[in-house]
Amino acid sequence: MSRLRYQILPWLIFASSLLVTFLLWQNERHHAAQDLQASFDFTLRESTVRIEQRMTTYAQMLRGVQGLFAASGSIGRDNFKAYVESLEPGAGFSGGQGLGLAQIVTPAQNNGHTAALRQQGFPEYTIHPEGVRDVYTPIVQIEPSSGFGLKMIGYDPYSDPVLRAAMEQARDLGTVAISGKVATAAQAGPGGQSGFLMYFPLYKKDLPHDTLASRRANIVGWAFAPVGMNDLMAGLYGERTVTTAIKIYDGVEVSSRTLMYESISERADTKESSLSAFEYIEIAGHTWTLAMRSLAGFEGRFGRDKSPLIASAGIVLGLLLAMLTWQLTTTRERAVAIAQGMTRELREMATTDFLTNLSNRRHFMARIEQELARVQRLDAQQAAVVALDLDHFKRVNDTHGHAAGDAVLKHFAALLRGELRKVDTAGRMGGEEFAIVLPGANPAAALAFGERLRQKVAQTPIMHGGQTIGVTVSIGIAAMTPRDGSADAVLVRADGALYRAKEGGRNRVEIAIESVV
Ligand code: GH3
Ligand code: MG
Ligand code: MG
Repeated sequence: MSRLRYQILPWLIFASSLLVTFLLWQNERHHAAQDLQASFDFTLRESTVRIEQRMTTYAQMLRGVQGLFAASGSIGRDNFKAYVESLEPGAGFSGGQGLGLAQIVTPAQNNGHTAALRQQGFPEYTIHPEGVRDVYTPIVQIEPSSGFGLKMIGYDPYSDPVLRAAMEQARDLGTVAISGKVATAAQAGPGGQSGFLMYFPLYKKDLPHDTLASRRANIVGWAFAPVGMNDLMAGLYGERTVTTAIKIYDGVEVSSRTLMYESISERADTKESSLSAFEYIEIAGHTWTLAMRSLAGFEGRFGRDKSPLIASAGIVLGLLLAMLTWQLTTTRERAVAIAQGMTRELREMATTDFLTNLSNRRHFMARIEQELARVQRLDAQQAAVVALDLDHFKRVNDTHGHAAGDAVLKHFAALLRGELRKVDTAGRMGGEEFAIVLPGANPAAALAFGERLRQKVAQTPIMHGGQTIGVTVSIGIAAMTPRDGSADAVLVRADGALYRAKEGGRNRVEIAIESVV
């Protein structure tokens, strides 16, 4: 029972460590996933807030133009340039491609307007696209005015429905409005990237614009800012590790037609994303859809998933614990086995003659007392005691040496053992003298046994050190009876018979007279 427990214990400990490890691992996985989701949500929220902040900055810049205009009722070219230059070094301007002014020109004003612009240093000025329209809103100033900006002078954004919608919204609400997605260079600016335009209405100085009607009546033009999406987004993050992919769509429709921006081109990105979400951004009454998904690097940066560590550490610890337990239990088992072995050896040493491995005298005497008690108890039962003494053993020692004598003693003991039944006990009584107790043997059986043994010894010499050593044994037998007072008394009778065997010429078997009677 306890052996079984000790064998099972290491397994139990290993199994329970595995269970604990599994629970910890699951818990960690759960929390890691939650943390990762939280980090992702935060990153998404942060992105939208940054975009909203940047848009607010653009709107602020446009309102500044209105301030400039309100002061004088018109904006001189130098004034405007100075204003834009004052903005440019500021962080807020990054991503914007410039600021411009679009002015309302009626068909009746067109000729005078064109002549004036040509005089102001644009000799080829003309409103384009050409054609007769109710009203024109040509770009009259744009900063920076070099290169692409210069080409835009005279362009009428009102001719483009996407831009016109934003301009009208700005005019009617008296606030900032942004256009839908624009993609062509003519609309958005250089680089061919997608983008949008932000408009802010300018009303006539000192005239009311607190109602829709007054705003429509008193509009004179717009301050506007073309913004490229790549420039806008690049300005948002600066040097950032790419752990998420962002796409921005114009409106709520998610399609290639409405796609304004993607941080990583679909084809270049082969990494898997485990998290993704949409967020809507409201800017000046216009909705964008921001789609974000995590890239492989996201988990590396924000994930603090220690579950693999927990799993491996748990398994290793469980193994170590189980091994330790196994060591302790088997050490104990081994110790018990060794102790049992030692006890057995000690017991044998106490009962056995070390040279012949037969019982020693003390043990034999105890055994013969036992047998006498058994015979007395059963009354009818018999037993025989045999006394043996090797003949002329002194000569063996003298002739062949003491070691040869020892070998002969062992040899004799082996022959003796070969003749014994399981119930018989043989003992070495001292030197070359032996005794045997034969339980249940009557005198005839004992005599037969003695004779058989005598012949066997006489016929079986031993080879030692290249020499053949023959030996004979004299045997005396006494029958044990219930009337015997002690084991010693029986032994004495057997010794008497043995003495007669010696007297009679040795190598003989004699039985005590009383036994025969
Ligand atoms: P017998 O009995 O026939 O009269 O002659 P014996 O030579 O055997 O007579 P005795 O009993 O006097 O001699 C016994 C000898 O046995 C004495 C001793 O040297 C020897 N002997 C006793 N014990 C041992 C032993 O353990 N080893 C060896 N080699 N010899 C032993
Ligand atoms: Mg002798
Ligand atoms: Mg002797």
